[in-house]
Amino acid sequence: MWKVNVLTLFPEMFPGPLGYSVIGRGLEEKIWGLNTVNIRDFATDKHQTVDDTPCGGGVGMLLRPDIIDSALKHTLDDTKGKIIYLSPRGEQFTHKMAHELCNEDNITLLCGRFEGIDQRVLDKWGVIEVSIGDFILAGGEIAAMALIESCVRLLPGVLGDPQSTEIESFSHNLLEYPQYTKPVNWDGNLVPEVLLSGHHKKISSWRLMKAEEITAQRRPDLWQKYLVEKGKGLSHGHNEKD
Ligand code: SAH
Repeated sequence: MWKVNVLTLFPEMFPGPLGYSVIGRGLEEKIWGLNTVNIRDFATDKHQTVDDTPCGGGVGMLLRPDIIDSALKHTLDDTKGKIIYLSPRGEQFTHKMAHELCNEDNITLLCGRFEGIDQRVLDKWGVIEVSIGDFILAGGEIAAMALIESCVRLLPGVLGDPQSTEIESFSHNLLEYPQYTKPVNWDGNLVPEVLLSGHHKKISSWRLMKAEEITAQRRPDLWQKYLVEKGKGLSHGHNEKD
């Protein structure tokens, strides 16, 4: 079972959206496990204070290192694994990272609030910082959920068809080709004819062409990576698996 510890001031937010659909079913079926830890349980005064003002001045409050340290000690008593602080300063989360993380036995996610967490406790525990994008959320919980969801859907048994994670956007540095379903004629808008041809090779090359077109247009950064891999003979266009 892939186990995730989540340290948060709002454990009641979990599983929340992670309790639905294939991800929720995976949780019920114990393909993955969730352990939420309430950071406030580790406060030591009668007001259950977890934060304090920044040394050197400035706006807002920071989570105290002693409180986070106690919460981590408690959580990691019998397990060790990567500790990730969801933070806008972190390395940008990617599909590749999701693949790496879902191969770990367990991970621990630290959700910040206020202006963040005292640096010393991050240094002490060798915490890795991960961002879900160049914008600021009010807390790490939604970022943690996004990270968890993208890892869980890669775990064997979570999605009906394991191939669906092989051919989607980013797998081979290409964005997905346009997809169509029935009705074939919707208000005069037709599905591209090649997709109805039953000719698998033609369909594959059409999809690859479209995926390349879209990637080149929308994501020059991915397109460059794709071309480099292709040059090395590593990238096979994701449709050849079809
Ligand atoms: N003062 C901080 C922002 C704090 S936002 C800074 O400028 O870097 C409060 C909390 O929300 C953070 O501690 C973090 O856990 C979470 N958070 C905000 N934006 C995030 C993002 N883009 N990715 C991941 N976590 C984020």
